[in-house]
Amino acid sequence: VSPHIHSAALKAAVLDGEYKLYPIASDDKQGLADLLTKVRAGEIHGLNVTIPHKQNVMPLLDELTPTAKAIGAVNTIVLKDRNLVGDNTDAGGFWNDLQILLSHIKIKEKNALVLGAGGSARAVVYTLLQHGWDVTVSARRIKQAESLVTHYASRQLTAANYDVTTLSSLLSDISLIVNTTPVGMKSHPQGSPWIEGLPFPKNAALYDLIYNPAKTQLMKNAAEVGLPVRNGLGMLIGQALLSFEIWTGHKVSADKIDLNL
Ligand code: NAP
Repeated sequence: VSPHIHSAALKAAVLDGEYKLYPIASDDKQGLADLLTKVRAGEIHGLNVTIPHKQNVMPLLDELTPTAKAIGAVNTIVLKDRNLVGDNTDAGGFWNDLQILLSHIKIKEKNALVLGAGGSARAVVYTLLQHGWDVTVSARRIKQAESLVTHYASRQLTAANYDVTTLSSLLSDISLIVNTTPVGMKSHPQGSPWIEGLPFPKNAALYDLIYNPAKTQLMKNAAEVGLPVRNGLGMLIGQALLSFEIWTGHKVSADKIDLNL
C-alpha cells in the first residue's frame, strides 16, 4: 500500500521520484547497513523501515528523534546535516486520524482501553499518554502488557487481564477502545478481539488499526450498539504523509490521496 500512497503524494506535490521496496531478510544485517550507506551517499533520499527492522536499525543510526527514542522503534529515516536520523511517524499518524473519530463523541473522561500490546500498541499508547489520556492495555499474554507498562513507566498506564471479569469492571469509564491486534484482518474476517459476552461501553468510540477489510467484525458489532467507529486507513495514510513531509518538506493533505485498495 505504501508505494501507492507515496506515488500519489509525489504526484500531488508535483515532484519527480519513486518509492521502491527493498526487501531485506530479518537476519540480513549487511543488507540493512548497505541500504543506509545509499542514504548517506544521497542515492536514496529517505527510508521507511518496517518489522523487524524498526528496532534492528536503531543502533545503525546517528540520531533518534525524541518520539522514536521514547517508543523504541523507527519507521522513518532521513539524512540531516550528514547525520542519519531515525523518526517514528506511526504515533502522529494515529493521533491525527483519531481526532476525526473523537469529534463524534463527547469525551467525559480521557480513558482508553487498548487491545493488544505489540509493536503498534507502543506507538498508540505513547501518543495517548502524551496527550493526557489514561490508558489500560489488555493483552492475552499479561506479561506482554506488563512489559509495555514497564517501558513507559507512567502512572497513567496500567495493564489488565484479557478476560470478561476484569474488562467489564473497568468499561464504564472508557471513552475510547483501540484495537491493535490483527484479529479481524482479511485472513480471518469473522474474528473479533472483543471477548464474547463483554458488553460495549456506552458513550465510547472504537478505533480499529486494521484497514483491510474496511469494516472488521469488531467495527460492525460496535456500530450495531451505537459506537462511532473508524478503521486504520487514515493512520496508514497519515504516517506515510508525515514521512513524506520529513523527506521532501512538502505537506500533502490526505484528501489529495486517491487509493484503490
Ligand atoms: P504485533 O506486534 O504482532 O502485535 C499484535 C498484538 O495482538 C500482540 O499483543 C498479540 O499477542 C495480539 N494478538 C495476536 N493475535 C491475537 C488473538 N488471536 N487474540 C488476542 N490477541 C492477539 O502486531 P502489530 O505490528 O502491532 O500490528 C497489529 C495490527 O495492527 C495488524 O493488523 C497491522 O496490520 C495493524 N497495523 C496498522 C497500522 C496502520 O497504519 N493502520 C499500523 C501498524 C499496524 P501475541 O503476541 O500473544 O500474539
